[in-house]
Amino acid sequence: MKEFDIIKNYFLSRSYQRKDVQLGIGDDCALTTVPEGQQLVTTTDTLAESVHFPKGTSGRAVAHKALSVNLSDLAAMGAEPAWISLSLSIPEYDEAWLRDFSLCLQELTDYYSIQLIGGDTVQGPLSITITAQGFVPQGQALMRSKAKPGDWIYVTGTLGDAGLGLELLQTEKAAEPMHRNYLINRLNFPSPRLMVGTTLRRLATTCIDLSDGLKSDVQHILFASQTGAVINVEQLPLSEAMLATVGKDEGIRYALTAGDDYELLFTVSEEQKGSLEVALANCNVSATCIGRINGVQEKLELQRGDKPYQLPETGFQHFS
Ligand code: ADP
Ligand code: MG
Repeated sequence: MKEFDIIKNYFLSRSYQRKDVQLGIGDDCALTTVPEGQQLVTTTDTLAESVHFPKGTSGRAVAHKALSVNLSDLAAMGAEPAWISLSLSIPEYDEAWLRDFSLCLQELTDYYSIQLIGGDTVQGPLSITITAQGFVPQGQALMRSKAKPGDWIYVTGTLGDAGLGLELLQTEKAAEPMHRNYLINRLNFPSPRLMVGTTLRRLATTCIDLSDGLKSDVQHILFASQTGAVINVEQLPLSEAMLATVGKDEGIRYALTAGDDYELLFTVSEEQKGSLEVALANCNVSATCIGRINGVQEKLELQRGDKPYQLPETGFQHFS
């Protein structure tokens, strides 16, 4: 099957249509309009087979993850998604895989009201690059650089589940079937916290999404904001599945170091803490206070209760 037939059969007719797209798939470029008073927010992420997902992962799981990791970046900026482009490298024509992939992408673009506006299709090792674009009201984007000493640190959801899910897939480690399912779904089907992101505008001082692991991602905020932080590992939110499978001590280790959570970590000033908790109550996602920003430059201090907590490992990093 030729490139254009693939585009036509799987992507052209299947995407949600938006009014702010004047020209979508089919020409050399797409033409779109950004609403007045809004800034355009753009992000790109690539998922490569055997690096970001194991060989044999379903088209559905790959589509879900490729889109979700991008939407999670938009969420972390407080943006609302609008358009995506898809660059697809596939080793051969695999009808079942492509159908699964494109149907899931269609379901999700419908669900989020986003339009697939273009892309590229090539033959090569299986790899998916999505560029996602969205809007944020002028001046309201959540950045990493605005944390101040005294700000409280929060995370959404529970941490470490995806990392444990990956380990269940790759090793002999055992778990109750119900928990195993839950953890592997957390790995394959992350939920971008878009509603939390937009709710945090004007309330949070910084926000970041957790992709490499809490311990490593929180450093990005400390570095960008030139601050330090104390995190109480006793407070880290752990799922029932995590606690039942590995217990609290190991759970803390996963929560700190495992990647692929796609939860949001954000900071909020003492003054806005109350308003923020009220606003988040409408989001259907839990948010847990896990620590506080301080003035000790770029130093992350881990405590368990009132004792220091030691952890040797760091988050996953490419090229390390
Ligand atoms: P060009 O050679 O001008 O780059 P292509 O033949 O690569 O054009 O693509 C034709 C049209 O199909 C373009 O509008 C492009 O954006 C779109 N397109 C190509 N691949 C994809 C894809 N995987 N998903 C969505 N749109 C695609
Ligand atoms: Mg092309």
